[in-house]
Amino acid sequence: MNAPLALLAELTHRCPLRCPYCSNPAVLARSSAELTTAEWADIFAQAAALGCLQTHLSGGEPTARRDIVEITAAAHQAGLYTNLITAGVLLDASLLKRLVAAGLDHVQLSIQDADAANAEKIGGMPGAHARKQQAAQLVREAGLPLTINAVVHRQNLHNLPAIIALARDWGAARLEVAHTQYYGWALANRDALLPTRAQLDEATRIVDAARGGAMRIDYVVPDYHAHRPKPCMGGWGARFLAVAPNGDVLPCHAAQSITGMVFPNIRKSSLHDAWHDSAAFNRFRGTAWMPPPCQGCERAEIDWGGCRCQAFALTGDAANTDPACALSPHHALLSDALAAAATNAFRYREFS
Ligand code: SF4
Ligand code: SF4
Repeated sequence: MNAPLALLAELTHRCPLRCPYCSNPAVLARSSAELTTAEWADIFAQAAALGCLQTHLSGGEPTARRDIVEITAAAHQAGLYTNLITAGVLLDASLLKRLVAAGLDHVQLSIQDADAANAEKIGGMPGAHARKQQAAQLVREAGLPLTINAVVHRQNLHNLPAIIALARDWGAARLEVAHTQYYGWALANRDALLPTRAQLDEATRIVDAARGGAMRIDYVVPDYHAHRPKPCMGGWGARFLAVAPNGDVLPCHAAQSITGMVFPNIRKSSLHDAWHDSAAFNRFRGTAWMPPPCQGCERAEIDWGGCRCQAFALTGDAANTDPACALSPHHALLSDALAAAATNAFRYREFS
């Protein structure tokens, strides 16, 4: 079995923004359930011993934790490349200076749109856009590489050329244009977010035309217009692991959406045992678990049957072929959802 390459450290579900496409679970972990600084330091040491090379410090908003500098230092001291995935609105010069001193290597800054008014409508936080611009400037002045993340959907795709221009203006070395993935809050807002086929085709054309310059552009295509699924996470339990704010160890950041599955918790299990021996990580490893039509399919070890979370969300059974595959008996669920996507009203992310 391979070692995991990367650890997604979901430090908290708290966030000043309320994005309707957030991939956090519909039931958010409260701060009282969060792992301590010492527990995270131990997790980073275990991850490095397991073979992980890098960690993504994420959330929610990771800088909402008062100990984010100590956590970053612990990840760095464990020998991990540290990437901060942030909305940027809490990142001031003082904090960034302390993060750099702690060993931070890279910043991924999320934006909701290039148009400030629409960005703040989507994110649900007035004043956020200007604070993000300031955060980008601070990151560049600190000499850190900057990636801009833009999650795109029906209500911001019309501004994609401006989003690409903004990423260049803000000094990004890389732009990730990611179509929304529909689990967590995004699934609850699917009708307001799904793009039309015409929007998707135009977005793909715009991204292709913008590529080739100094700024790298990565493009994550949507599943709902697809004929074959993506190799989600490079295969379940193959390259990636995540630790949720409450200590659950997950093969994918969305895996808690699969209700009924029991995941190991770092307070009761080592990372090594969770990765190698837990029932949850072994449940969908390899190809033996696959149903027809995946079983025997020439793409079985290419796309690994697609996304288990999407199979569960759409069919109620995580062991089904991802409906994004045209060979799935459930493929029509996607066109049904596209036909039903007729509202622009958001249900904002919130603690219940
Ligand atoms: S998607 Fe939005 S609400 Fe969710 S963690 Fe990121 S910035 Fe916060
Ligand atoms: S049948 Fe399964 S393995 Fe084959 S292309 Fe579809 S999802 Fe992939």
